[in-house]
Amino acid sequence: MVRKNIFSLKPYKSARLLHNNINNNTILLNANESPIISLFSLNKKTFNKYPEPQSRELINFYSKYVNLNYKNILVTRGADEGIDIIMRTFCDPVKEKILFCPPTYDMYRVNAEILNIKYIMINSLNNWELNINFIKKNLYNIKIIFICHPNNPTGNCINKNNIIKLLELVKNKIIIVIDEAYIEFCINKTLVNLIDKYHNLIILRTLSKAFGLAGLRCGFILTNSKIINILQKVIAPYPIPNPVIDIAIQALYPKNLIIMKNNVKKIINNKKWLINNLKNYKIIKKIFYSETNFVLIKFFNSHYIFKELYKKKIIVRNQNHENRLKNCLRITIGTFNECKKLIFELKKLSC
Ligand SMILES: *Cc1c(COP(=O)(O)O)cnc(C)c1O
Repeated sequence: MVRKNIFSLKPYKSARLLHNNINNNTILLNANESPIISLFSLNKKTFNKYPEPQSRELINFYSKYVNLNYKNILVTRGADEGIDIIMRTFCDPVKEKILFCPPTYDMYRVNAEILNIKYIMINSLNNWELNINFIKKNLYNIKIIFICHPNNPTGNCINKNNIIKLLELVKNKIIIVIDEAYIEFCINKTLVNLIDKYHNLIILRTLSKAFGLAGLRCGFILTNSKIINILQKVIAPYPIPNPVIDIAIQALYPKNLIIMKNNVKKIINNKKWLINNLKNYKIIKKIFYSETNFVLIKFFNSHYIFKELYKKKIIVRNQNHENRLKNCLRITIGTFNECKKLIFELKKLSC
């Protein structure tokens, strides 16, 4: 009785699903979470009433943080829900398609398959930039283009001029979604200031990565007020639980934004230290340039490296299944201690 597309669906393999036999001394470098814990407690402790459909207070705080009007913001259950409601709002299943550029975040594919929306994949170029010329030739019946910026799992930002070229090219015809899940690690590359100019631009944000709140499940859609109003029709009536609103607001207090920005700096420093130490390791073929809290590394034998790290309770993300990422592992930047342990183990393997 199951729909055909669901029956044949290859589901998203979340890091937590792949490796759930973890304990306290396991080092998890496979889901791009923050290794830094911030402690919060609930201010509001009664739950008999439904939450506000869209918490005005939370939106006001996020509005100050991104410097946009509250009318340009929708709160979602993580950026993943943003992906889903945008597809459901704009795409007619079967007839209309989305486009994305592998290697990239797998949820664009999974969500499209669930909704029976067809997709076109235009591989990025070898420097992981958009293949604009080829995209241009494949826009028939495309309703949404998803661009992950900076891109997961490669770690690079997409050239702003290329994105603008694309926005101009498809004005009034195609929605361009920029997934800025990791943008806090290279905040000056954000495209939020283009929202006023391009009415086909939607930006996705989340508290899961730089804010260190993956467990909270809170994200944001940033776009013009007309699209926000349309998306409001599609999102569930009470999507964001009160405890989530409560803690998301606290995370956006000015003093906590300062802490978040300092944590971002710490992680970027750890990344620099890690990459510097990995240079000249014989087991490594290439370290890809990263503007995020993870780094993609091509090894000579990633299967062996993955297995050996796993034995030492360090879990990273295998990317070997991706056509152009053979022998690549994606490693989340952890605390300085975690980076040291990683180096310690990799050094042993490279002798
Ligand atoms: C982690 C991630 C998401 C999902 O974020 P949530 O807010 O936790 O749902 C979306 N896009 C990209 C590129 C990600 O890496």
